[in-house]
Amino acid sequence: MDYQQILEDIYKEILPFAKKGSQADYIPALAKVNPDQFGMCLETVSGEVYHFMQSDTRFSIQSITKVFALAMCLSLKGEDVWKRVGKEPSGTAFNSLVQLEVEKGIPRNPFINAGAIVIADILLSELEDAESEFIGFVRSLCGNDEIDYNEEVAQSERQCGYLNAAIANLLKYYGTIENDIEKVLMFYFKMCSVEMSCRELAKAFMAFTNRQPFDYAGYKLSTSRIKRLNAVMQTCGFYDEAGEFSYLVGLPGKSGVGGGIVAIYPMRYSVAVWSPRLNSKGNSIMGMKALELLTTATQESIF
Ligand code: GLN
Repeated sequence: MDYQQILEDIYKEILPFAKKGSQADYIPALAKVNPDQFGMCLETVSGEVYHFMQSDTRFSIQSITKVFALAMCLSLKGEDVWKRVGKEPSGTAFNSLVQLEVEKGIPRNPFINAGAIVIADILLSELEDAESEFIGFVRSLCGNDEIDYNEEVAQSERQCGYLNAAIANLLKYYGTIENDIEKVLMFYFKMCSVEMSCRELAKAFMAFTNRQPFDYAGYKLSTSRIKRLNAVMQTCGFYDEAGEFSYLVGLPGKSGVGGGIVAIYPMRYSVAVWSPRLNSKGNSIMGMKALELLTTATQESIF
């Protein structure tokens, strides 16, 4: 398969979408990002790397971080994680409050904000220094110690994070989170602020692609747990667009409002794409289109 040629052809085809949508601006620091950027990287399980355009530019991974947080949590707590958070698709926006009230403080899944805030709470309770453990795990996944939090993005989100604060308050009211609300929110925003490039994300997600039991920085997942993590990505990775992503792309994956998307073709490749302009569901327009064209051109999807 000539993946390099396919990536280059895809870019030509998605150019008509280049000015559609706009970047997330509810986090003021993200509003400053130049929206007209694009990068893509595909890494195969045998270690071949194909990349195109700004694949080395780091960006705010935002909700993609929730996959790393869940992986750590599963390693620490195993199936007990599911006592605190569900694993059903929500069909609602990533930051919705509605379901949380109706379902009495148990978030539908770990990839909507409410669920990820609970995961942040579990990590804070389990670990003495959750911030350094978390970044250590991510660094170890991609073998790069330069990966870091962006303090400015985290603080900027905290200053305007009224909705996430409301979610955290509701969770605390229902007794789903143990730690101090402010501490949990700040750790959640810090995890979202991590910056990585498409090449680094494709590499990090190889751990969830090749189905080998893993041990990164002491965090271990069995093949079976990796399979299940993929299942949650498939059903919940794109919020109220999870069905659309399954339909058009047909791979497990995770998006973030920084404009990044990572997807996995199990036992074959991981692919990361980035372009900041988002659709109304908070997913990258060019990114979704690029992945749809990739699985169409290669006929490689899990379906
Ligand atoms: N930090 C963002 C938020 O909580 C993450 C959302 C996302 O990437 N979908 O709103």
